[in-house]
Amino acid sequence: MKLSQLFTKTLKEAPADEEAVNAKLLIRGGFVFKNSAGVYSFLPLGWRVLTKIANIIREEMNAIGGQELLMSTLVEKKYMEPTGRWNLDVSYKAIPQIDLDSYIQNSKFKIQDSFVLGWSHEEVLTAIATKYINSYKDLPFSAYQIQTKFRHEPRAKSGLLRGREFMMKDLYSFHTTQEDLDNFYKKAAEAYHKIFERCGLKAVYTKAAGGVFTDKFTHEFQVIADVGEDTIYVCDKCEYAENKEITKLKDGDNCSECGSGKIEAKKSIEVGNIFDQGTKYSEALGLEFADDNGNKKPVIMGAYGIGLGRVMATAVEVYNDEKGIIWPENIAPFRINLIVLDGKNKEAEEIYKELGADNVLYDDREDKTPGEKFADADLIGCPIRLVVSNKTLEKENVELKKRNKKEMKLIKIKEVFKEL
Ligand code: ATP
Ligand code: MG
Repeated sequence: MKLSQLFTKTLKEAPADEEAVNAKLLIRGGFVFKNSAGVYSFLPLGWRVLTKIANIIREEMNAIGGQELLMSTLVEKKYMEPTGRWNLDVSYKAIPQIDLDSYIQNSKFKIQDSFVLGWSHEEVLTAIATKYINSYKDLPFSAYQIQTKFRHEPRAKSGLLRGREFMMKDLYSFHTTQEDLDNFYKKAAEAYHKIFERCGLKAVYTKAAGGVFTDKFTHEFQVIADVGEDTIYVCDKCEYAENKEITKLKDGDNCSECGSGKIEAKKSIEVGNIFDQGTKYSEALGLEFADDNGNKKPVIMGAYGIGLGRVMATAVEVYNDEKGIIWPENIAPFRINLIVLDGKNKEAEEIYKELGADNVLYDDREDKTPGEKFADADLIGCPIRLVVSNKTLEKENVELKKRNKKEMKLIKIKEVFKEL
């Protein structure tokens, strides 16, 4: 993409009310726009990052058999009441409808069943499944969506780490036996490790409490970072970890899992969470299957979430310097930031064409100084910077610098295509 065509611009200053590094850098770089506290719009650069994260998640969810779908965002009361989650604080309620007919006939207001803006979709998918699942032969299956969730988060101060509106991948799995769920749970955990690794993040598998989702233990994927709101107790050797909320572990304890490591308390960000939900939702909403003797049993369920914006913000929190963002390769908005100095030339145009508009952010702006172009490249944070100028062209060279390295090197233009 040509930078001269991009409608957004970088900003020298972040809004004064933003405290979080991720929000400051993402706003300054033109990745997101802050609409309200905890409510962000994704601008073209930010949407590219989010789409890359979404596609990595999709590939790994499809690889374990997850079927992608999209559920409704408005969730009617009748779904949430049976599970006791209608009146939870996290809900944003949609404005109740007035039944006009009854108003005209009786001169009375009748508030119809109202809706909540979906904040998790166990109930909706369980209700859908009751229409299709009858026997053990219909199980197991798993399905997921990538969708906007709405939550009333009182402390929306961490930028995209904690939004009131945010994109989540939520997968749900349905099983006949605990053993089958346990096997799938392990597969999902492996898929999660792959996802975070591909996004450039190292996530620690952490035992945790289930909150409003389940009474059982759950597992979180925690990225160690000082800005994190969570504290985990993690072994410095085997990485066995427990969330502070449940743990009896203390800083300095010997690790009982591996026997040789020491437990340390670390601040961390929860980027994903997986739950064994048992039969909580299937019993409440009547999702049963007939076993091979024809006996009806409740379906056993699991749920598996990842916050896409939180993954993006975590990457920014972990990978940045005083100049800007340093994107991990796979989720960078563009792999290459090509800068042309001293006016456009055919060599730069050719590099752009050859490496492709989808890989290259081409800084072809005529009204910017070299200093401004370099500052923007550092702020936006593409992994590779290429510079073509009169000087480099004297010897048919282009200058290459990686965003996470100090050194620059000159390479022949012809070699660029081989090297990148
Ligand atoms: P937290 O304890 O941080 O509030 P949670 O336990 O409520 O998270 P889940 O309901 O399990 O989170 O949601 C699944 C995933 O969605 C989380 O692991 C996280 O990555 C993401 N997520 C949850 N809440 C938010 C939020 N307010 N903003 C952005 N991402 C979120
Ligand atoms: Mg929460």
